[in-house]
Amino acid sequence: MRYSKLFSKTSKTVPHDADSANAKFLVQGGFIHQEAAGVYSYLPLGLKVLRNIEQIIREEIEEVGGQEVSMSVLHPKENWVRTDRWDSMDVLFKLRGAGEKDYALGPTHEEIVTPLVQDYVFSYKDLPTAVFQIQTKFRNEPRAKSGMLRGREFSMKDLYSFHASQEDLDRYYDEVKAAYFKIFERLGFDPASTVITYASGGAFSKYSHEYQVLSEVGEDHIYMCGKCRVAVNREILDDQNVCPECGNKDLTEKKGIEVGNIFKLGTKFSGAFNFQYTDESGKQQPVIMGCYGIGPSRIMGSLVELFSDKNGIMWPKSVAPYQVHLVSLGVDEKVIKESEKLYKDLKKAGISVLFDDRDERAGAKFADADLIGLPLRLVVSSRTLEKGGVEWKERNKSDAEEVVLGEAVKKVKKFYE
Ligand code: ATP
Ligand code: MG
Repeated sequence: MRYSKLFSKTSKTVPHDADSANAKFLVQGGFIHQEAAGVYSYLPLGLKVLRNIEQIIREEIEEVGGQEVSMSVLHPKENWVRTDRWDSMDVLFKLRGAGEKDYALGPTHEEIVTPLVQDYVFSYKDLPTAVFQIQTKFRNEPRAKSGMLRGREFSMKDLYSFHASQEDLDRYYDEVKAAYFKIFERLGFDPASTVITYASGGAFSKYSHEYQVLSEVGEDHIYMCGKCRVAVNREILDDQNVCPECGNKDLTEKKGIEVGNIFKLGTKFSGAFNFQYTDESGKQQPVIMGCYGIGPSRIMGSLVELFSDKNGIMWPKSVAPYQVHLVSLGVDEKVIKESEKLYKDLKKAGISVLFDDRDERAGAKFADADLIGLPLRLVVSSRTLEKGGVEWKERNKSDAEEVVLGEAVKKVKKFYE
């Protein structure tokens, strides 16, 4: 992609309501565009990051047998009345359609997925099964906050599993629990700062589990056990001031961002829709359910909170919108020729490149590269060519080095192996 053709531009103006690094850098870097408090559009760079995050999640959820669907965003009121949540869910967006028909804008999809799967699953032979989607969710959050961290419109991966027995749900729940750790590691989070947190579990299990990444902008207060990398959410702390895994009472308070949440639903929703299956002896039994959420847009914001400095973002390799930020400096004929050739060669080798081919000052180009935060910057200038090379600078390192022009493509491939 040629920077000169990118319609979204970086901006020096800090958004007036930017209360966090992600709200500031994602808008200034031209990743997202704010439409209202907690409501953002994705620009080309931001959409690429979001898609990269979603793809990692999709691969790992398919690995644990999730089948991808896309459910309706408009939810008939009847479904929400049936589960008693039409009046009790305070963040529900409600709207009236033709023929005075009432709808909710999907904030979560138990009310849709349960009767949907019920239409296809009848016998123990059809179980277990699991479906997921990655979709925009709507919640009328009283206070949108911290850019992508708490939006009124946001992206969620929601997986729902259906089982013939509690033991089978327990087995699958542990499988998803492990898959989540893999997802967060692939997304670039340091395993040491991704903490599984015990939270209240509702009527069907003692606990649910949240995945918290440690960050000062996080809204959740968690108490961490130093011994087994587990935490307890403060909201339940009253009866839980000991580590639920090892009994340690010396817990440290930290702030975290909840990036994922897994929950044993039991028969809460299958009961409401009278969703049963026929067991091996021909008897009707209630279906047991689990649900598993992750927020790709909240993750995008969290990555910026964790990986940025005063100049901008430092994307992990796995989610960066492009792999190389190629910068040409000056309008010297040789510089143009060599940088154009390198751009072509990199693309031919399957490397994605943001090529800053603008006629701009070096300082401005470098500032943009730091703000946008691709993991690797390559600079071609008369000075670097005199030395027969290209300047190689990794975003999270302070020193640059020279690389022989003819070896640049090979080195970049190796960097991304
Ligand atoms: P929170 O406690 O932060 O309000 P939640 O417990 O209501 O979130 P879930 O309903 O479990 O969240 O949603 C699954 C995931 O969706 C969360 O773990 C989070 O990553 C993401 N998410 C939830 N609400 C928002 C929001 N308002 N903005 C962005 N992402 C969100
Ligand atoms: Mg929560």
